[in-house]
Amino acid sequence: MAVRVHFLGAGDAFSAGGRHQAGYLVLGPAGAVLLDCGATTLTAMKRDGVDTGAIDAVFLSHLHGDHFSGLPYLFLEYTYERPRRRPLVIAGPPGTEERVAALYRAAYKDLAQQPLPFPVEYLVLNPGVPVTIGSIHVEPFRVPHQQNDVSLALRVSLDGKVVLYSGDTGWTEGLVEWSQGVDLFICECCFYETRYEFHLDYPRLAENRTRFGCRRMVLTHLGREVLARRGELEIETANDGLVVEV
Ligand SMILES: [Zn+2]
Ligand SMILES: [Zn+2]
Repeated sequence: MAVRVHFLGAGDAFSAGGRHQAGYLVLGPAGAVLLDCGATTLTAMKRDGVDTGAIDAVFLSHLHGDHFSGLPYLFLEYTYERPRRRPLVIAGPPGTEERVAALYRAAYKDLAQQPLPFPVEYLVLNPGVPVTIGSIHVEPFRVPHQQNDVSLALRVSLDGKVVLYSGDTGWTEGLVEWSQGVDLFICECCFYETRYEFHLDYPRLAENRTRFGCRRMVLTHLGREVLARRGELEIETANDGLVVEV
């Protein structure tokens, strides 16, 4: 089995075009990792017939709702629908454990007072500090998206393949550096006309396209402006449900 990346949701926080929020399943013989878990990620997994029990670990790029607020539903899934006993690793920027616990309490107060029927192993991803989980290697680096909290891009290696995920980010030369030698670059592209320092826009990516050293680049987290111009774009864009063989 080769490494596959399943784009569960290629939409932004506003679900532009009715698209699901951020969630990317990276699957290989070494294991299955979910990159981000937006509010509708479980919905998207059910839509596409994904075996939710196969997930070994969830890596979070940052703690915005469209990237992590689906976790309470995953906990419910593993409690009732697909009972889980083996550990679930949740790795994310500093503060992940507290934020996930608070989110679960807010969503399911009574349930959250009892222990989950499976162990959750929290792991802090610090920028510039690589982490290995089983035979999956993750290199997190900081990207400009939030003022105080840490936002990360994640470079994930498994089974001889390398996937780079930008998370949400403004422009940074780090994207160019970290994309060298990468098999697949999953890159956010929220805007077209609008330029912000904490999100990416298509013209900025297009003018730098030849500098990225990835074999394949797929744009995701597509906002309204980008969807309106989809016919004119020269960089590949994702649809919900896209599966890329890396
Ligand atoms: Zn964000
Ligand atoms: Zn986002």
